[in-house]
Amino acid sequence: MAIGGNALEAAKERAAAEWVRHQVDAGIDIVTNGEQFRIHFVQGFLEQINGIDWEQKTPMEIRDNRYTVDVPTVTGPVSRPRSVHLNEVRFSRKQTSRQLKFTLPGPMTICDTIADVHYNSRPDMAMAFADILNAEAQELVAAGVDVIQFDEPAFNVFMDDVREWGVAALHRAIEGLQCTTAVHICYGYGIDENLRWKNTLGDEWRQYEEIFPVLNDSRIDQISLECADSRVPHSLMGLLTKKELMVGVVAVTPDRVETPEETAAVIEAAMEFVDPERLIPSSNCGMAPVPYDIAVGKLQSIAAGAALVRDRL
Ligand code: ZN
Repeated sequence: MAIGGNALEAAKERAAAEWVRHQVDAGIDIVTNGEQFRIHFVQGFLEQINGIDWEQKTPMEIRDNRYTVDVPTVTGPVSRPRSVHLNEVRFSRKQTSRQLKFTLPGPMTICDTIADVHYNSRPDMAMAFADILNAEAQELVAAGVDVIQFDEPAFNVFMDDVREWGVAALHRAIEGLQCTTAVHICYGYGIDENLRWKNTLGDEWRQYEEIFPVLNDSRIDQISLECADSRVPHSLMGLLTKKELMVGVVAVTPDRVETPEETAAVIEAAMEFVDPERLIPSSNCGMAPVPYDIAVGKLQSIAAGAALVRDRL
């Protein structure tokens, strides 16, 4: 049975409150609302933005030909008539006194998820989206968000673009924000196309090697990357000497919960390259593809693994 209207809004609030409580109970210090108010991390934002024609679908090769999707089309200047996420942030802020983090899609990833017949330039369109992301982020911070994270899975696909305009667009998105800022880069989870792509990347995934130096010199405070069950060499973290690192210590796998010993082992491996003061254990990525009980277990293992390492230090 599908629900809609007020019943759907109430259900989203109950789900968000529940996931905040699971994180707090597990011992997670920086919590989110579990993105319970949106279905997709990019389109959940774009749905409220003017200048996009949702009827005009254009086939687009996403993430450099990894897969093709019919996407909506930017047909005029983009603008944000009102805040997209303010109500859910106000609700989420009331659920906990812990630090609250909120994620927004990054400008480059937005541009790789939507077609364009107006700007005719990805960098120009990215800057336009960065302006409205910045306005959105300002409102969310004023409502009590402590950490704004931009999700940029496109960053390890278009490495030249990251250097040429991707970080500049992020800088515009964080301009003047009175909060901690983060960027999540990622190899993608949850769909077969990503799994097939990863199988072509070889034993060592070194894409980050090209973008970490420019991120290390950026004004973003925190970088989030996957380290559990990943083929990203841990030594690449040594390129991020000036940043806090969110180190993924649980994988987005639907079938098992890592033990606290396993997550502690990933944290300790990362500590070879990152001082503990700069290291924030987290999940590899969003856990949307993970069943409920497994996701709760993974949250518990993140905190329990961190506690084990703290005891040993
Ligand atoms: Zn991710």
